[in-house]
Amino acid sequence: MKPVTLLFLFVCGLSHFNHAQSHVIPTPLFYEQLSGEPFKFSLLITDITSVPKRTSDVLFSWNNTFRNLVEKKSDSIPIALKVRLNQTTEKHPENDFYELSFDGKLINIHYTSDASLLYAYSTLLQLINDEGHQLSLRPFTLKDYAKFPWRGLHLDVCRHFFTVDEVKRYIDIMAFYKYNKFHWHLTDDQGWRIEIKKYPLLTEIGGYRDSTLNDHYNTSPRTWNTEHYGGFYTQAQIKDVVKYASDRGVTIVPEIEMPGHARAALAAYPDLSCTGIQQPVTGLWGVFDDIFCSKEETISFLQDVLTEVVELFPSEYIHIGGDEAPKTRWKTCEKCQNNMRKYQLKDEHELQSWFIRQMDEFLTRKGRKLIGWDEILEGGLSPNAAVMSWRGEEGGIAAANEQHEVVMTPGSHCYFDHYQGDSQTEPLAFGGYTPLEKVYAYNPVPAGISPDNKKYILGAQANLWTEYIADFKQVEYMVYPRALAMIQNTWSTNKPDYQSFINTLTNRQFDLLKYWNVNYSLSFAKPVFKITKEDQGIVITGTSIDNNPVNIASKCTSEKKGKELIIMGPSIYFSRSGSDAKTYRITAFENKFHSSSTINFINHKGIGLTIEFITPPNKRYAHNLESTLIDGVLGARPWNGSQWLGFNKGNVEFIVHMDEKINYKHVTTSALDATTSWIHLPDSVVVYGSDEGVNWKEIARQKVTGEQTKIALKGKNKQLKFVYTTLDAIPEGMPGEGYKPFTFLDELIFE
Ligand SMILES: [Zn+2]
Repeated sequence: MKPVTLLFLFVCGLSHFNHAQSHVIPTPLFYEQLSGEPFKFSLLITDITSVPKRTSDVLFSWNNTFRNLVEKKSDSIPIALKVRLNQTTEKHPENDFYELSFDGKLINIHYTSDASLLYAYSTLLQLINDEGHQLSLRPFTLKDYAKFPWRGLHLDVCRHFFTVDEVKRYIDIMAFYKYNKFHWHLTDDQGWRIEIKKYPLLTEIGGYRDSTLNDHYNTSPRTWNTEHYGGFYTQAQIKDVVKYASDRGVTIVPEIEMPGHARAALAAYPDLSCTGIQQPVTGLWGVFDDIFCSKEETISFLQDVLTEVVELFPSEYIHIGGDEAPKTRWKTCEKCQNNMRKYQLKDEHELQSWFIRQMDEFLTRKGRKLIGWDEILEGGLSPNAAVMSWRGEEGGIAAANEQHEVVMTPGSHCYFDHYQGDSQTEPLAFGGYTPLEKVYAYNPVPAGISPDNKKYILGAQANLWTEYIADFKQVEYMVYPRALAMIQNTWSTNKPDYQSFINTLTNRQFDLLKYWNVNYSLSFAKPVFKITKEDQGIVITGTSIDNNPVNIASKCTSEKKGKELIIMGPSIYFSRSGSDAKTYRITAFENKFHSSSTINFINHKGIGLTIEFITPPNKRYAHNLESTLIDGVLGARPWNGSQWLGFNKGNVEFIVHMDEKINYKHVTTSALDATTSWIHLPDSVVVYGSDEGVNWKEIARQKVTGEQTKIALKGKNKQLKFVYTTLDAIPEGMPGEGYKPFTFLDELIFE
């Protein structure tokens, strides 16, 4: 047989390696550079005679990805470097273990599985240097295996539809970075995307909608794009994608949502709802009251659907959703209430638990495992169910301690539909703030799991919901480079610090992403503002991502044109005395990525005052506790985490201390109304005044009706106490119903 060779002509940006690190992502377990000069070559030859075709095809395609972008012709005879593959048949205690070394003459790959050969090859590609007219490789030795068996990326194809080619591209790049689970979110209120032969209307009707919300959910008034929108995957396409992923070491975990997020299915088969009323596939986001009825017909319908799903997807785990299912309809549905009596279920949560158990038993009989969002814990967890913990870490902790398998995917660190930079300059997103550094800091094993039960944490996953992501370029923008941070958390036992990770990105990985033509985001590189209290006011400085000071400029925007004052320097001081709530536009400039950041600053009469918190904010939302409420900067809307204090315990109380008795005329208190994120306005605010902090006198009381509440103040006071009355629980039918809502405050503007 003629030896098959792979040809590499591999060129990329200049890379510099040091002894501490290899610039490979995810960081290998063990890497050591050996002594000896770099070997210069122009052709990499890999003997793949022993490799199954499906795997060698992937190696070829990776070669094409890199070669086609940078192929160079050379007149001289190519100098070849050979890669020898050695498969170890004995089982290694660690899954997908591989070893890779270069002794100066030959590259040796020892691998234990098809996937681990791909891992080794990806690592090798990342280690080769471009020397302009030739390639080079330093002698090294490397051993590697994954820390967690579940390294997941999710894609919602319901809110917006992505083609087979786009889905394959998503899988391609994740596989190159050693992700191994693709969670395909195939059904939701806004579209049913998987062909089910027995129920053709699911895709015929449920696959399309006649309107889609423009702008953000919270934008008022709402406007609609009335274009006919949708699409679905045929079973033949799905089989093709499943094989494509499997060839790349990626298992596809399909998600069929139940009992909630069912509007598309119910548009096709309204009899499966409690009311039977026909409603169109919705183009609005959020949570809807109409869910699958718990009656027998629905249970068998869903089991029929799962029968076809199981035939298409070899995955051990099948995701059944289980999240955000309001019980409004079940409470008034005769059939649901009958079920509760028949099975002696004490409330609708137990009815949902019973519903999920029907699927759990069904999938178990089929030799599969059920996985669902953490709501499936409510009313009792099914015996074999695995849990995906998204509403925080609590669900994951509880499930692991009950010895159920868990995949961690808390919104705080793992939701890539959140903003990764300033929401004023980023493309419209859901809300939230999950910058690169926060993703990088994530540890999939939360505190609170007993040592014996830590093994139930299978790993972690990042989720991409696509309400505000209509095209694939933006998918890439939201996922990269955050996915490179997340794989560090699930693969790497020796994760370097964040600054080293940034160096790896800028010195090597962005060049690799360019070969894939990925539209990655540079939002992480924008300079950040630091606002600190200073005697009688505040100081604003800017720093680059490598913590160096940058220049900032401030321009007064309250003045008429021609009188604009521009001040530039490393820091700017604003005093509260004598100011008249003038506004300034402040910009920080950074040279490495040529990026800038801007904030609007209000120089009001309360900036830099001291606040004593009687109610502490939730520690996740205590951004710059000392100064946030009096730093002159309003929080961004849609909410992106920074510039806000978030409270979720009882009422909110704090005291503002002045240096002397002051007669303020007004204070404007600013709060956030973002009910989809469980953030509600307070009900009312009362202000008390005092001059020695002992005897408090009520000086104002006002109902809160909007985000900004202007309150008239009376008399001279040295202290002001603010007491906000908040809702005890989120009202029924709203996202997070029954939970204590958050109160988010960003500023007190004194005049
Ligand atoms: Zn019902």
